Amino acid sequence: MSPTKSFSEAHVLPRSGGVGPIVEQALAAAEAQHELNAFLELFHESARDQAARVDARIKAGEAGPLAGMVLSIKDNICYKGHKVSASSRILEGFTSIYSATVVERLLAADAVIIGRTNCDEFAMGSSNENSAFGKVLNPVDKTKVPGGSSGGAAASVAAGTVHVALGSDTGGSIRQPASFTGTVGLKPTYGRISRYGLIAFASSFDQIGPFAHTVEDTAAVYRIMAGHDPKDATTSKRPVEPITLEHPGKLRIAYYREGLERPGMDPEVVAHMQAQIDRLKAEGHTVEPISVPLLDHQVPTYYILATAEASSNLARFDGIRFGHRSTKAQGVDETYRLSRSEGFGPEVKRRILLGTFVLSAGYYDAYYAQAQRVRRIIRDHTLASLEEFDLILSPTCPTTAFGHGAITDPVAMYLQDIFTVQANLAGTPAISLPTGTHSNGLPFGIQLTAKPFDEARLLAASAGIFGC
Ligand code: GLN
Repeated sequence: MSPTKSFSEAHVLPRSGGVGPIVEQALAAAEAQHELNAFLELFHESARDQAARVDARIKAGEAGPLAGMVLSIKDNICYKGHKVSASSRILEGFTSIYSATVVERLLAADAVIIGRTNCDEFAMGSSNENSAFGKVLNPVDKTKVPGGSSGGAAASVAAGTVHVALGSDTGGSIRQPASFTGTVGLKPTYGRISRYGLIAFASSFDQIGPFAHTVEDTAAVYRIMAGHDPKDATTSKRPVEPITLEHPGKLRIAYYREGLERPGMDPEVVAHMQAQIDRLKAEGHTVEPISVPLLDHQVPTYYILATAEASSNLARFDGIRFGHRSTKAQGVDETYRLSRSEGFGPEVKRRILLGTFVLSAGYYDAYYAQAQRVRRIIRDHTLASLEEFDLILSPTCPTTAFGHGAITDPVAMYLQDIFTVQANLAGTPAISLPTGTHSNGLPFGIQLTAKPFDEARLLAASAGIFGC
């Protein structure tokens, strides 16, 4: 099966004979690539029904802007009448009773959702090896991980099955898998896209965002998803700026010195960064080095705050209000204990324990409150840099995709997030662009960060200056 072209290229509906055939091709491609384990379920029936509705609207001359686009959604995004499990045993068999706002908006724009993709359990991980439903293979090299937590989403785009995949990014879960699979991955500004209908991991960090083949397709879905939602009080009422992708002209670009100097960086990733910097200078942009605020504190700050929020968000999965109920339990206490013990996997348990610990009365000030203060300092520094510069350039990840089972130490795995957590701590938009190929044959990304709500410039620069 040849890879699906980007939506913008494929959007020659007359040539394809309508949306129906595009959807059939995507479903067949997903089945042919079953081995990747990217999809947990294909929504044959609703995808075909939606395709028929869209084809009818095309005939009536009323088609929406995404007519002809096929999408996948990460298994933590709710779609009414469809299963959603956050790749966890605790939610196995659960059916959504409502749709996420992003799902409603995309369907209203005439996109077709063909299935839900595998991910790390409750979006916790960097390799998609924490799913209760098995690991995902990287379509570029099946011996490698696709990254995580949105590994299935990234794989569904990289394999050419769908035009766009929705993922969620709490600390890098869109950008890191985008880097590992050679796709474009956008984490929007916190508050720009509704989280209503996203199964919460860490609510002050989580954002839904797209994976795509091109920035143009990224922009096409961003335009539809962005904007205030009365169902999510953290969405901004600020009007959504028009996304034109016009060349942004000469920019002031900062780059992180640590992205070039930090030990553990792959030398080819560093050389690529340097080549980008030289090119940008030669093209007349202002390019200057700056330092990452509190680099060594970012990952610990993220893991204290994200696990604290997770321990609270996941309390509802107790076998009584939501989730699997143990059949072996006797009495209330044991029902809670056994249901959660049986339902959650090891990484989720580790994080609930960590989060509960940092929130406990004796340690709250030492860890949680302290981490909140550090988060504020990181945010203030980041925003100050973004007053001086239009964009910040860094690698997305220190290395290319690693092998399955290659990282077994949880702390080493957490350090995968070294360059991505800043955008979540600060609430800024950031994108990973597939600009590099390593001599090992694997793709890798560079990351651009812009000031909050400056997606227009972020996307315009990604297309115009980085050619993605
Ligand atoms: N790798 C990070 C973590 O495990 C990021 C996860 C995410 O963005 N959902 O927490």
